[in-house]
Amino acid sequence: MKWIVVGAGSAGCVVARRLVDAGHHVVIVEAGPALRPTTMSPAIDGADSFEALASPGRVHTGLIARRSQAGERTPYLRGRGEGGSSAVNSMVALRGDAQLYESWGWTDTGAMFERVLVPIERPRRSEIGRVARLLLDADDRARPAPLTRRAGRRITTAEAYLWPVLPALTTMPDAPVDRVEFDGSGAAVGVRLADGTRVDADAVAVCSGAIHTPAILLRSGLTDRGVGTGLSDHPAAALTLQLRDPSGASGLTTSVLLDLDPLQLLPVDHLGDAAPPDLAVLLVALMRPQSASGTVRLASDDPSDHPLVDLDLLADDRDVERLCDGVAVALELLRSPPFDASVNALFIDDVGTSDAALDSRSAIADWLRRRGADYVHASSSMAGALGDHGRVRGHERLVVADASAFPSIPNVNTHLPTMMLAERFVQEWIDTDARRSA
Ligand SMILES: Cc1cc2nc3c(=O)[nH]c(=O)nc-3n(C[C@H](O)[C@H](O)[C@H](O)COP(=O)(O)OP(=O)(O)OC[C@H]3O[C@@H](n4cnc5c(N)ncnc54)[C@H](O)[C@@H]3O)c2cc1C
Repeated sequence: MKWIVVGAGSAGCVVARRLVDAGHHVVIVEAGPALRPTTMSPAIDGADSFEALASPGRVHTGLIARRSQAGERTPYLRGRGEGGSSAVNSMVALRGDAQLYESWGWTDTGAMFERVLVPIERPRRSEIGRVARLLLDADDRARPAPLTRRAGRRITTAEAYLWPVLPALTTMPDAPVDRVEFDGSGAAVGVRLADGTRVDADAVAVCSGAIHTPAILLRSGLTDRGVGTGLSDHPAAALTLQLRDPSGASGLTTSVLLDLDPLQLLPVDHLGDAAPPDLAVLLVALMRPQSASGTVRLASDDPSDHPLVDLDLLADDRDVERLCDGVAVALELLRSPPFDASVNALFIDDVGTSDAALDSRSAIADWLRRRGADYVHASSSMAGALGDHGRVRGHERLVVADASAFPSIPNVNTHLPTMMLAERFVQEWIDTDARRSA
């Protein structure tokens, strides 16, 4: 059977590989550049995720999102090119709450995580960043974070899943998909690229991520089935630290986390080449948000136009309350001796407003509503439109596997759960196809 897989990110590479292993003919079509052994650069597999983000063509430049109803639209990061977001993310690798997955009826996730081919290792002591080290000293619950690396190198899904089977695959990089094509019965029969080329197939798996999968399906005419609703992310707050030592970062951008389920604290040890070297961030994120009213809508039918993204974070007051708790924990840590000795000043925005403005719980809540951040973990924007194992309701031979397909947002960083989801869905598609052909 000939499959088209649209998008070569965390999920798409898993899907393509497993279909090839099962003997299917696979064409993997990706909007961005190829990522091959010969073109792999230290910017992508190195310690600095800002360098990966700055690599040519590796993010969907110009994509913007509104965090709250009152907020402005500002850039929203999504990976682009083979490897997708796995080539630019911060590499944190957590499985999440098995009970949450069981509440969706996903009872096999332990086995599916075991299948994931991307290796995981914790950073060496010498790789722990300066702020990360302060967090380890300040709170004995903080731990070096498990990262998607091997021997100190980032391992993308392209490397782990696609590279070993490249001769058996048809890859189409730099080929953004406009829409899915259907026959008269509504069954998927291929895709139309943005340049007008049509590629035919027996089945289509859309794996373009929680922003672009609904956009492709909206352009394909699926406008009345919950496509692009229920979008979630983990709401977050960023506290910017100005360090006394101006010499700049030495370790990994992210190397330690403090898991206080439902909260997570993550130091970001420097802010890229464009920022002063003495700045770093402590991120506080709410990992079990109630709000799930974000949307992805089309700005126009032109596939080169970015969709309109409204995350609608913190729409539920319970989320504001819990994130306030997280900010209070972070402020207390930042005022404790290890941080106090190393931090010169603390800011709550990029124009130098001091943390002194957060002098009451209501001030923190106001600040979060105005300046609340996301955690680049877009999720669940297709959940309402999908049946079992990512099947698009009302359309034969059309399936979705990526972060858009989570019934609700996982309670951890979404890369490893997305690979698990893809392993789980594709196995069921392969089994169903084998039963039909038997
Ligand atoms: C900067 C950043 C940091 C992050 N840090 C972490 C972290 O530390 N740990 C963690 O667990 N998670 C992290 N995440 C989130 C995690 O990486 C994502 O949730 C996960 O990669 C999503 O996988 P996906 O397959 O849904 O989408 P992606 O991996 O984004 O893949 C989608 C692919 O589809 C392609 N595509 C889009 N539109 C089209 C089209 N029209 N035609 C063809 N192809 C298309 C894209 O170019 C992309 O390659 C981070 C994300 C970002 C952006």
